[in-house]
Amino acid sequence: MAAPSTPDLMSTIVSLAKRRGFIFQSSEIYGGLNSCWDYGPLGVELKRNVKEAWWRAMVHSRRDIVGLDASILMHPDVWKASGHLSGFTDPLVDCKNCKERFRADHLSDLKTCPKCGGELTAVRRFNLMFKTFMGPLEDDSATVYMRPETAQGIFVNFLNVQQSARLKPPFGIAQIGKSFRNEITPGNFTYRTREFEQMEMEFFVPVAEDEQWYDYWKHARREWYMSLGIKPEKLRMREHAKEELAHYAKACCDVEYEFPFGWSELEGIANRTDFDLKQHSEHSGKSLAYFDEETKQHYFPYVIEPAAGADRATLAFLVDSYAVEGEGKEARTVLRLHPSLAPIKVAVLPLVKRDGMPEAAEKIYADLLKNSVRSFYDHASSIGRRYARQDEAGTPYCVTVDSQTLTDETVTIRERDSRVQYRVPAATVATTIAAKLKEASA
Ligand code: ATP
Repeated sequence: MAAPSTPDLMSTIVSLAKRRGFIFQSSEIYGGLNSCWDYGPLGVELKRNVKEAWWRAMVHSRRDIVGLDASILMHPDVWKASGHLSGFTDPLVDCKNCKERFRADHLSDLKTCPKCGGELTAVRRFNLMFKTFMGPLEDDSATVYMRPETAQGIFVNFLNVQQSARLKPPFGIAQIGKSFRNEITPGNFTYRTREFEQMEMEFFVPVAEDEQWYDYWKHARREWYMSLGIKPEKLRMREHAKEELAHYAKACCDVEYEFPFGWSELEGIANRTDFDLKQHSEHSGKSLAYFDEETKQHYFPYVIEPAAGADRATLAFLVDSYAVEGEGKEARTVLRLHPSLAPIKVAVLPLVKRDGMPEAAEKIYADLLKNSVRSFYDHASSIGRRYARQDEAGTPYCVTVDSQTLTDETVTIRERDSRVQYRVPAATVATTIAAKLKEASA
């Protein structure tokens, strides 16, 4: 059995995601809400694991980065200072004939509809920020915005964090949280949505060190995806041309992944210079300059920002791990997810539902749960079908209790990728699996 061809691969992934409880359409029973998605029991674990892997790499394993969890709603002046109120716009055109809407910067011909050949409207600029009102009055003075990026919460807290945690550049502040953009052309499943989660880190550096840290983070972020199993040939780094750079950026490079719909941005690494700290100092009237105790001088550090999307990364891990292997009866669909990302780490399977096997399996299951290993117990249908279900969910290990277990208290461990099976004492399953998981994430 061959893997589906490229155009079909996305629809195969979307239907697997729904069938197995990774991702559902939001408000499906009401016909769905365009570009909004809900993560089901397996999806929520996968996405949490992605975020935890990011937090481990960016915060817990480092001495120079701390975390922050800022509010989604911020003072409206934040968005004036950051440039989002005036500049966070996309150019859009509509087809007068089929009514389809396009981003003008995605079209080569601004006159003719690429879908039906109809005439296009003139280009209009459209602000991507969602607006709402704070308090009971729905007037201009009560307008607030749903943040379109998490970064600004970090910039306005720069001195709070630096002083309370007593940090000295180079140091970073990391944040994971929801952002909202009223995208003109959402699509490609969870790739471009209007509500999404970002994983952003602002790394504040002495001005003279900006280029060195920019190179460092470009390298580190590419490595991160590969360390979690993304195939290197599916990743590339795309340095932005000067004309493409945002107004605040001195340089920017995207980590791109080859999705079934083509090479697309997973993450952007930007040199944001001192733009944001200076803008907020000016607009708030409170200087966010850092005081260097050694030189006794104030200065605005430069900022290197690796900005990733939790949903895009989750989608890339899902797509990249998907494989169809073997022929005929041997054929299987498998998600070769890295063990630290897999939603379920181990499935416990009694071979049959009698002869004391469920009891022995239940004991192992309880032991795994006690050791906080995310596990699943399944006694329904043939053992082959149960293995197949776990392969498709990306579960790296299955533990099978069979008749031999009842005589010598050993069980079989089956590994997802190699399908190798070996016996271990039932009492050591939890420690064996925990050691394997630790080894895989080392
Ligand atoms: P794009 O060019 O795809 O619109 P961007 O360059 O505007 O993305 P950034 O502002 O750099 O994106 O945001 C950082 C990251 O946040 C992106 O690399 C992506 O992973 C994620 N992200 C941004 N917009 C969306 C969206 N609409 N849906 C899902 N993730 C998003």
